Amino acid sequence: MEQGLTCKRKPKVAIIGAGPSGCMCGITIKDFCDVSFFEMSKPLKTLLATGGGRCNLAHAEYDFKELAKAYPRGEKFLYSVFSRFSTVDTLSFFEKIGVKTYTQDDGRIFPVSNSAADVREKMLSQLKTTKFIKEKVLGLQKIDDKFYVKTENNKYIFDYVVVAIGTHSGLQFLNMLPHKVTELKPALCGLVTEDNFSTLKGVVLKNIILKHKKIILKGDMLFTDNGVSGPVIFQLSSINSREVYPYSVKIKLIENEEDFENSLKSSGSKNIKNVLSEYLPKSFVKYFLQKLKINPETKCGAFNGNTKVLLLESLCSFEITFICVRNGGETVFSGGVNLDEIDSNLESKLVKNLYFCGEILDVDGFCGGYNLQNCWSTGCLTGIAILKNMS
Ligand SMILES: Cc1cc2nc3c(=O)[nH]c(=O)nc-3n(C[C@H](O)[C@H](O)[C@H](O)COP(=O)(O)OP(=O)(O)OC[C@H]3O[C@@H](n4cnc5c(N)ncnc54)[C@H](O)[C@@H]3O)c2cc1C
Repeated sequence: MEQGLTCKRKPKVAIIGAGPSGCMCGITIKDFCDVSFFEMSKPLKTLLATGGGRCNLAHAEYDFKELAKAYPRGEKFLYSVFSRFSTVDTLSFFEKIGVKTYTQDDGRIFPVSNSAADVREKMLSQLKTTKFIKEKVLGLQKIDDKFYVKTENNKYIFDYVVVAIGTHSGLQFLNMLPHKVTELKPALCGLVTEDNFSTLKGVVLKNIILKHKKIILKGDMLFTDNGVSGPVIFQLSSINSREVYPYSVKIKLIENEEDFENSLKSSGSKNIKNVLSEYLPKSFVKYFLQKLKINPETKCGAFNGNTKVLLLESLCSFEITFICVRNGGETVFSGGVNLDEIDSNLESKLVKNLYFCGEILDVDGFCGGYNLQNCWSTGCLTGIAILKNMS
């Protein structure tokens, strides 16, 4: 790469946003370009909260097409991206900068240090000689072949601009660009329910099966003060992030209804609350029987005909209605810069030498390290594309 560069002056590159994607891009080009980060907060601050402070930095899926399936928005676009920078490249990048990793049983990959702060420090140590301008970018304009980056008090001139602002801080200056931006909607978040489950706060239902239209999801659900959360709800909120509220889902509360029916038959003299408690948490059983107006002391032998049908149907199709997403709880947003206007090298098809990487793209993935993988892949490929462009 170095030999191909004949420019006397290093090209000036502005990276707007020093989050995971911007920093990955910066690390890729720092030795060949004059890089300035614009970061209104602290560089890589967003990394600190990831994985509950442990930084779930990737997922152990090594087939790039399978990996792309974990992104409700962006799957096709990511084929080309992941075919050039995927999980293996992420792990070897981190190994190179001194971050050893391990894989959990569920496929999530973490640093051996279990510390997002450590990952942040190792990445920032790669950017020691790079300029960080602690200013919020308010405007971006291209006049002839130069970009003008405007902050509150200053205007800066660059040859290339990388927009890596994520989705959490507003997208105001993007409206100066010709790009279509899909409206942001929360994803990977808890949901507020019509029913009040506050007495069940903290209770977990294990391995439920949730159905909505063609969606079938299996996993754990957690009750919160105003609704539900947990892995299965996070996944639903991601797939359905553009669904109109309110909407209802059906939940199968017990894995094996035949097994339950047999228990009911063989436990004629036992109370229904005790038998149900073998399948579900006690506090939920109390709520559930109250909702069905069934006396918890009723003997199992009394369940036949309509009462048995009602009980079994409710266990297999428990309905929950969601009225909105839980405020402020979103991990990522769906929406962002429309992918039709970005080429496979992450360069704008509308403005030459303008690039986008990370979550600002209309790409978002499930929980499990996928969103950071998008940042590492698009960040590095943006950098490589700039290097190719200038050589
Ligand atoms: C609590 C939490 C936990 C998460 N855990 C995980 C996890 O374990 N694994 C995973 O894969 N994903 C996780 N994610 C998602 C992941 O953190 C994001 O997808 C990722 O941070 C996006 O990186 P980015 O570089 O695109 O944008 P960001 O991380 O949002 O960084 C953008 C940067 O740009 C700056 N900026 C924005 N606008 C301007 C402006 N106008 N001028 C100057 N600077 C600006 C911001 O201050 C910010 O520092 C988590 C998210 C959250 C909220």
